Amino acid sequence: MTPPASPVSPLLEALSQEDIGAVRVHAPLADYCTWRMGGPADLLVEPASAAHLARILAWCREHGAPCVVIGEGSNLLFDDAGLRGVVVRLGPAFASLHIQGTRIAADAGVHVADLAWAAQRAGLAGLEHAVGIPGTLGGLVAMNGGSRRQAIGDVIVRVSAVDHTGALLDFPCVACGFGYRTSVFQRNGCIVVGAELDLPRGDPAAIKAAMEADVAEREAKFPLDLPSCGSVFKNSDAMYAAFGPPGKVIEDTQLKGLTVGQCQVSSKHANFFVNLGGASSADMLALIGEVRARVCERTGIQMECEVRYVSPQGAIMPAHDAAPQP
Ligand SMILES: Cc1cc2nc3c(=O)[nH]c(=O)nc-3n(C[C@H](O)[C@H](O)[C@H](O)COP(=O)(O)OP(=O)(O)OC[C@H]3O[C@@H](n4cnc5c(N)ncnc54)[C@H](O)[C@@H]3O)c2cc1C
Repeated sequence: MTPPASPVSPLLEALSQEDIGAVRVHAPLADYCTWRMGGPADLLVEPASAAHLARILAWCREHGAPCVVIGEGSNLLFDDAGLRGVVVRLGPAFASLHIQGTRIAADAGVHVADLAWAAQRAGLAGLEHAVGIPGTLGGLVAMNGGSRRQAIGDVIVRVSAVDHTGALLDFPCVACGFGYRTSVFQRNGCIVVGAELDLPRGDPAAIKAAMEADVAEREAKFPLDLPSCGSVFKNSDAMYAAFGPPGKVIEDTQLKGLTVGQCQVSSKHANFFVNLGGASSADMLALIGEVRARVCERTGIQMECEVRYVSPQGAIMPAHDAAPQP
């Protein structure tokens, strides 16, 4: 497919000639997210160092090119038109991990499962809830992700991040703005490059058993055989108290199996929307809008999305903000 014409493409192709790490021009974003949807990004870069990252950010700022950072794309919905700008993916070059005592210092590109298992081997607890979460530490910190009423922010000591000028900043935990599925890194334009965690000591065998149980429970509950982005909607205290968690609420609204194009509310877990094959993000947004409206009709509550939509201009927002109102 010929990518759409982009006013910034010639500039970005010029950037691709510089020493900035591994570069892919017209990168199909469907290959870089777990939902397997999305058109081409003008440029996708995997910087090989913090210096590369600083150079990319400075260049984007100078030329007014949108810049979006991603990890594994396990919480992102890319537009069918892709992105007229640069996607920065923190990959293997940002994957070091050191353990000293109860502290772990890890780069943003470390996979969350690898981090959790490294902690287990060192007899450190507190990441059992995260072992089954796909994605990178950077994405987990930005989302303040977690499960079982825990989140990564609970064990963060400090986060290192690069701002839009390329300067390296230190964010002690109190400056990270952690809340339910939110952090300051969703708002301040900084790219997380690493984090330091402090974990309680625990019995490695007990931690291992808890992690294996978590993974087994996920395999039983979630439709892991089809592309998804995990939970589409966030929990809310008001909705939980009156009607239960989003999956139950969607199921009780008789929406399991609801389908738009190749996008479907999973019949296994109603807060997972799956790509049946070749789905479009327009259809996924329509499905999100439809489910949200029908739940609101029944409960009076407007659910909010956990999954984040990336517009072709590089704006990132909760997906319901981009969904059509049926
Ligand atoms: C099967 C499945 C199960 C899931 N289960 C859970 C769960 O139990 N709990 C949970 O919380 N989530 C869950 N998720 C959602 C997702 O895995 C998490 O949100 C994860 O932390 C996202 O990490 P990522 O590296 O893929 O980030 P991405 O999806 O690539 O990015 C997510 C957001 O973080 C930003 N971001 C990414 N990297 C950085 C960085 N280095 N610096 C600054 N910002 C950054 C992006 O711009 C974007 O806004 C699940 C997803 C799937 C597919």
